This record gives sequence, C-alpha cells and structure tokens, in this order.
Amino acid sequence: MSRLTVLGSTGSIGTNTLDVIRQNSHRYQVYGLAAGRNIDLLAEQILEFHPSVVALPEREGKDQLAGKLAALPKSQWPELTTGPQALVAMATAPEVDVVISAIVGVTGLRATYEAVRAGKRVGLANKEVLVSGGRLVMDAVRESGADLIPIDSEHNGAHQCLRAGNRAEVTKLILTASGGPFRTTPISQLALVTPEDALKHPTWKMGNRITIDSATLMNKGFEVIEACWLFGFTPAQVDVVIHPQSSVHAMIEYSDGSVMAQISATDMRMPIQYALTYPERSQAPVPKIDWSQARRWEFGPPDLEKFPLLKLAYECQRAGGSATCTLNAADEVAVEAFLARKISFPSIYKVVEHTVSKVANRQPATIDDILELDKESRALARELIARDAKVGAVSALGLAASKTAPPVRA
Ligand code: NDP
Repeated sequence: MSRLTVLGSTGSIGTNTLDVIRQNSHRYQVYGLAAGRNIDLLAEQILEFHPSVVALPEREGKDQLAGKLAALPKSQWPELTTGPQALVAMATAPEVDVVISAIVGVTGLRATYEAVRAGKRVGLANKEVLVSGGRLVMDAVRESGADLIPIDSEHNGAHQCLRAGNRAEVTKLILTASGGPFRTTPISQLALVTPEDALKHPTWKMGNRITIDSATLMNKGFEVIEACWLFGFTPAQVDVVIHPQSSVHAMIEYSDGSVMAQISATDMRMPIQYALTYPERSQAPVPKIDWSQARRWEFGPPDLEKFPLLKLAYECQRAGGSATCTLNAADEVAVEAFLARKISFPSIYKVVEHTVSKVANRQPATIDDILELDKESRALARELIARDAKVGAVSALGLAASKTAPPVRA
C-alpha cells in the first residue's frame, strides 16, 4: 500500500488524483490533503478518503472546516494544520511515499522541494516549481535520488518517449500545444477578448490560471522551461508545434531522425496514474483512442508575433538566473488583473515583458531567495498595473480593458 499526500486536492489535478486513488483503493491510501479555499469539497474529501492530516493556508479556513466536520466523531477527524510549514510537514512525513504537487502558484514550491530532498516520489503538476526554482529542485533530485515524475501531459509524454532509447541519442524534444481558444483569431481582435472567451479552452478542462496561460501560450513557454530542467535540454533543443487536437502530447527525435510520439486521450488521470505506477503500467480509467474511426491530426508552427510570451519564455530560459522566476510571478499578477478586467488580453504580455526587463537578474541560492524574488517581481508588476490605471485610457502602456461584467476568480 502506497501512502500519498495531495497538495492542492480540491483543484483540477487534485480531484483527478483522488479519482485515480478511488479506482485503485487497494493500492493507494491518502495520508495528507492540502487545499486553499474550497472548504466544502475538502470536507467531502475527508469523509471519503480519511486522511491523517489536512492543511489549509489560514486559521479561518481551519475553523470553517471544523464546523463542517462537526457530525463526525472527533476520533475520526484528521489533524487540522495551517500555514506553509504544515505543507512541508505533510509532504515530508515518514509515513508518506508519494507527494502529488498540484497547488497552483509558487505556494507549492517549498513543500515540493522538501519532499524531493526527503527522497519522496513526487508527481509534479505545479509548473512554478521548476519555472521558479528549476536549478535548486534539480540539484536536490540529484542529491536525494528522488523520482520526480512529471504529470503535465507533455512532459509525461516526453518521459514515456525517452524510455525508447538512450538519452545520448536524443536530438530534440517536440512539445505540442493546442493553440488555445485564439489560435485562429486575428491578432487585431485580441484586444477585444474577454476573460470568458479566454477561459474556453478547446481541449482541456483546467484551473483558471493555466487556462489563461494556455490562451497566451505562456503555458507552453513554461513547459519549455520545465522540459529544459527535467530532461537536461537547452532551449534550442525544445520545439513547440501547434496540434489543435491535443492527442499527440510530445515527441522525441533521436539522432537517426526517428521520432517517438506519445499519444493518448486528453484526460489527466492517465499521466497522474503513470506518475504513481512508474515504471509499471496498469489499466487507467480513461477512454482509449478508437483507431477504427477516421481522424485528421494537424501540426503547424506557433505564431510568435501573436503570442509573444512564448518567445519571451525562451529568452528568459536562455538568460538563466532568476529571469524565469520573474516571468512566472509577473504573469500570475497579469493573469489576475486580466481576470479582474483591469487589463486587456494583449496587456498580459506588456506587464510581463516590462517586469522582466526591470527586475535585476540574479542567481537564487535558496528557496527563500526565490520567494523574495517572486515577491519583488509581483510588487513591480502590481505597481505597473496600478500606475497605469491611475493614468487611465491615455496611459503610457494602455493596459486597460473595458469593464462590462464582474471579475472572474483567478
Ligand atoms: P486549480 O486552480 O484547479 O487548483 C489549484 C489547487 O491549489 C486547489 O486545490 C487550490 O485550493 C489549491 N491552493 C491554492 N492556494 C493554496 C494554498 N495557499 N495552500 C494550499 N492549497 C492551495 O489548478 P490546477 O489543478 O489546474 O493546476 C494545479 C497546478 O498544476 C498548476 O501549477 C498548473 O499549472 C499545473 N497543471 C495543471 C494541469 C491541469 O490539467 N489542470 C495540467 C498540467 C499542469 P482551493 O481550490 O481549495 O482554493
């Protein structure tokens, strides 16, 4: 029996993880669950999965949760914990074999890093871990020998394709991108798109931040950065190809020109299960591709003029140091502002590019350094948006979006 901590249990990856556990309850048991604000769902998860420990960001959430558990005898309550240290404790506890890292944002960084240092198997969904802290986390993987198995479908696909040959024979990684909801939208129309338009992802159902990042192709840029860290590629060895059907997740080109592709349904339970069972495979609760049906798969190059954040991600990874940490922090602030209808869709790039150009690049030596850089970058991005809002429609950067409906939760 393998015991798991799920960081971000109430999110899209978290609930899919619990579904995999539900279907394999003879193999997996929940030790810890961590969530943010969705107390109702967390309470339901506690009743179903009986974790030993539960973590929430603040005391207020803990009190609310205690209210929801009132009907349950106290002897059956999990230990209720709060704060960043609680995440670390549940990720490194000796009882835990596997940690699923699926909190959105840099909040999940320290606990994931400490889980790696403690030698746990980590199923990694959280992008910010490698985008912000790639060097430190990969150093920790080398030192502890922990298994860091990517859950993101593209990296998970690459992980599978890399098993087909020797790493020294690999020449290229090709990551596919659906192209998002604006793949065919003319560039001149992008200033008019709303959060609702951007949240309509054509192939995947995910959290709001990653869905907006998919619409700008920032998400693909993050994936390029993650792939460089995970598999030891240079940015020049990682290509992005638009593939609207999202069936081929990644391809690996070997030195003889042979290309291995990983193909599966667009269902995150497959890569989540792979992260749990690797190096074995088992029946997954996902639809298989029906090869008796005629189908058409398209592949094409990304439009870097329309989606400049992808190009910026390559530049930041080439620059090294803290550039990618700033990239992520500024993007998170810009996405929040877009969802709150404070800035337009194309202004997400303006905020991120401006912030990356202003925050001095340095080499973070500790997780605290990264968190400090993250804070500094966020503050600068926020200041830029606030300054621009004061100036109004004729502002220097023209970040504003027209407000026609209430904001959307980030
Ligand atoms: P969601 O927004 O759906 O879920 C985020 C989770 O993080 C929720 O459980 C949320 O809790 C929790 N959370 C937020 N803040 C805190 C906090 N301070 N302490 C503890 N928990 C917190 O995101 P996704 O599941 O879509 O994505 C999670 C990560 O995985 C992201 O980094 C994303 O980029 C990555 N990823 C996601 C994919 C997907 O298919 N969804 C694919 C590949 C990568 P609550 O809801 O209770 O507030």
